[in-house]
Amino acid sequence: MAMNKQNVLDVLSGVSLPEDEGDVVSSGVIAGCSACDGFVSVAVAAAGMSAAKRDVLKRTIEGAVRSAAKAGNELLVEVNIEMKEQSPGGRPARSVPLDQAAPAAAKAGAGGHAPISGPRGPLGGSAGAAPGAQALPNVKHIVAVGAGKGGVGKSTVAVNLAVGLALRGHAVGLLDGDIYGPSLPTMLGLDSLTANLLGNMLQPFFVHGVKAMTIGKLVDPEKPLIWRGPMAHGAFKQLVEQTQWGPLDYLIIDLPPGTGDVALTMAQMLKLTGAVVVCTPQKVAQDDAVRALRMFQQLNVEVLGVVENMSYFLADDLSPPREYDLFGRGGAQLMAQRTGVPFLGSVPITISLRKNSDSGDPSANFKGDTALSRALDGMVKSVEAQVALAGFRSGGRAPTLTVS
Ligand code: ADP
Repeated sequence: MAMNKQNVLDVLSGVSLPEDEGDVVSSGVIAGCSACDGFVSVAVAAAGMSAAKRDVLKRTIEGAVRSAAKAGNELLVEVNIEMKEQSPGGRPARSVPLDQAAPAAAKAGAGGHAPISGPRGPLGGSAGAAPGAQALPNVKHIVAVGAGKGGVGKSTVAVNLAVGLALRGHAVGLLDGDIYGPSLPTMLGLDSLTANLLGNMLQPFFVHGVKAMTIGKLVDPEKPLIWRGPMAHGAFKQLVEQTQWGPLDYLIIDLPPGTGDVALTMAQMLKLTGAVVVCTPQKVAQDDAVRALRMFQQLNVEVLGVVENMSYFLADDLSPPREYDLFGRGGAQLMAQRTGVPFLGSVPITISLRKNSDSGDPSANFKGDTALSRALDGMVKSVEAQVALAGFRSGGRAPTLTVS
């Protein structure tokens, strides 16, 4: 047996704060907790706590969980304790005005970019954005889709997320931030379309119910896109600001892969509601995805969750369709549990998904009641729910629950 969340909370209610201020649960110091399959994550609301106090708390909490697991002969693989910049029992520290915040944050606000070595962001935590990040006035939620490396299906997930949200009645924009290898012209079938300017504003392509913009339609597709860092940032900024998006419920951003300078700066440039991390099930892919996840958290961007792409191969030409576990299905799900972030769903490898991507027809993925359409729909609904929760945590109205 492995410990569950209630076991962990019971253990924590026996852990006292270092200066005899009661136990960590009733004093509101525990901001979150999850436990599954031997992976325990505890989030501590640590705003204003000294480094020494954080250290003591971290060791005490981990020690208590480990001893309880040992005493009860329970499976325990990892205890992950995250210090959140949030006051005990309260909201995240991001609402603190810049002039009252830590010097690093004030500097980031003035300079535009937060130092990556700055205070740790929340554990899949409360809605947050990089200090100095820009909001888009007509856009309710900006969601970045990132990945630890290329080829895991980041663009595929971004495209299908955008189309799926549009099918659920939202006004959706999709921006190709993968400035070095834009996939949207192919995946959305933009080949025969040309970009139009109205005044000095670009008109987005309106395809599959989504307003889309990509650098791939503004440059020669055969020429290599050689951008040095500042040029890439400049191009991205112009694409964001000089596209006539109109009012949007969601702007989905397909980020460049990895945690390099360009992905990092783009993730900081806009006030993101949160980020979706795409990962395939293999261990090596998980390691890269954890790096991407930590990058967002360090930038104080909420990780809305992890999508496991290429979870298994679905032979949907067979009747009934057969599933083959190629890469270790569930690996990314375990990684999400281990790192304490939501799991947003699994997308199978299917021949039809690849074909529809190559032919620029993502709407076809949602046609009919198929295993693929159900998987994509599930992922879309999970993102919708996490975005609503993120809005709620950052001070918005409580989400309304609807069952559909
Ligand atoms: P990334 O953006 O991470 O580099 P892409 O989304 O461009 O990856 O996907 C790489 C290739 O794999 C594309 O040809 C895409 O159609 C294909 N692909 C991605 N996910 C799936 C899937 N679940 N089933 C079938 N093909 C997929």
